[in-house]
Amino acid sequence: MLGLMQDWPLLVHKIIDHAALYHGDREIVSRSAEGPIVRTNYRETGRRARRVAHALDRAGFALGDRIATMAWNTARHIETWYGIAGIGGIYHTLNPRLFLDQLVYIANHAEDKALFFDTTFAKLVEQIAPKIPSIRLYVALTNRGHLPDIDVPNLVAYEDFIADARDDFAWKEFDEHTACGLCYTSGTTGNPKGVLYSHRSNVLHALIAGHADAQGVRNIDTILPVVPMFHANAWALAFAAPMAGAKLVMPGPKLDGASIYELLDTEQVTMTAAVPTVWLSLLQDLEKTGHTLPHLKRVLIGGSACPRSIIETFEKKYDVEVTHAWGMTEMSPLGTLGSLKAKLAGLPYEQQLDYKCKQGHPPFGVEMKIVDDDNRELPRDGKAFGRLKVRGPSIAKAYFRGEGVDAFDDEGWFDTGDVATVDPDGYMTITDRAKDVIKSGGEWISSIEIENIAVGHPAVAEAAVIGVPHPKWDERPLLIVVLKPGASAGKEDILGYLNGKIAKWWMPEEVVFVDEIPHTATGKIQKTALRERFGKHRLPTAAE
Ligand code: ADP
Repeated sequence: MLGLMQDWPLLVHKIIDHAALYHGDREIVSRSAEGPIVRTNYRETGRRARRVAHALDRAGFALGDRIATMAWNTARHIETWYGIAGIGGIYHTLNPRLFLDQLVYIANHAEDKALFFDTTFAKLVEQIAPKIPSIRLYVALTNRGHLPDIDVPNLVAYEDFIADARDDFAWKEFDEHTACGLCYTSGTTGNPKGVLYSHRSNVLHALIAGHADAQGVRNIDTILPVVPMFHANAWALAFAAPMAGAKLVMPGPKLDGASIYELLDTEQVTMTAAVPTVWLSLLQDLEKTGHTLPHLKRVLIGGSACPRSIIETFEKKYDVEVTHAWGMTEMSPLGTLGSLKAKLAGLPYEQQLDYKCKQGHPPFGVEMKIVDDDNRELPRDGKAFGRLKVRGPSIAKAYFRGEGVDAFDDEGWFDTGDVATVDPDGYMTITDRAKDVIKSGGEWISSIEIENIAVGHPAVAEAAVIGVPHPKWDERPLLIVVLKPGASAGKEDILGYLNGKIAKWWMPEEVVFVDEIPHTATGKIQKTALRERFGKHRLPTAAE
């Protein structure tokens, strides 16, 4: 017997309709690509999203068309997403930090038909345009006065494109399983792979992400997503915030510590989200200026492991609660979040901090298990570690065009490529990416754990650990360090600091100091580049 409840399709554009109707005057404030701060609200954004949909529809775009965006976090970018979704098109976020060849590969793989871009990227767009024949329309996210002078076919200013389009345009009708968004993972092995979100998965994920023990998005919140919309679906905030009618503060092109601080302060932001490197920069800026964070209540940190020192500084010095989260593009992206469970509430702070440093526990809607090399499930005892597999309604079941089939098994589990432990309370800890794990004397050493402790040293700005071949032990850890400006520390200082905090046999064999550690397009330490540079480093003990 079937239930007798309404079949109300979970469509993404219903979110902006809801926000426009019930939270119409709630603001979206953007630092525009042109420079000035621009203010709008959900009512206006809802109308303009419909104008985008109408403009696309009358230009001949339709269901299933991939429409690329290469843009910062701004209200215009949000309107564009919802407008594309509203005709059954697929917003495809292009990450401008990728190499030119990768961008060309991705846009061709996706067969994008149009590209909406911020003027910041005009030159880049001009370079790639001749190599992407499928794109027949270029929309610069600006007005006519700022239209860049570049040589691309059918270039139009966004404000002209939507100028006389209807703001009461009727959304197209289609099934909730219809594709809605496309985002490629950076593909550290092999080519980038496309993750194709559906309307249903995006709406469900926003519901999952928004709930109290996850991101806890509320109407009274003012949210600043530093995490770009081109990185893993902006961690659901472009959907979860309008769902609740939270005020949005969109940082545009300026993501440095000082610019982020300015917005946190002037807009009285209560919640923000970004990868750890952004917070390293902000905290260093606060240290210099002596500024405080009186309005900020919560910060969501994920994308790579968050060092203990960041969590501790936010919480103790600035009274800002940190939620450490883990996820990936394939998971829409949230997988686990580190909110404290009831049974931990009475623990002393230092012990709570141990839990906050873990990657968190899964919200309803994410199933998770760890397995050994033979795919046998391992115990949830906080000790056994194995490959982390996940399942759920907002997790990919395949990559676009059938790439990377090996990551998906017959029982519907997706292999994350991460190695992790899960404790009896469901808190998961990432040991490493499977390919970054260091194998020493038949045991595994977690590069992440050493890195996170090393950045707690007062002179260290950033740290990375890689495995370097060793004749006796197979591999041994090499610690690569960037010192804070003006700070000094030697090998012995750093190793001395690690002493007692990690197992003796985890102790790096060598510390090398560099000016800069390379990062991926999503702000993570680029281990492949470090292995290329230091992989043949001769360790002092290698001759033993
Ligand atoms: P890309 O691989 O393109 O940078 P993703 O954001 O999808 O994009 O990367 C997901 C991976 O990032 C995860 O599989 C995991 O290895 C890493 N990651 C994300 N959050 C964390 C975290 N909190 N701690 C450790 N690793 C993390």
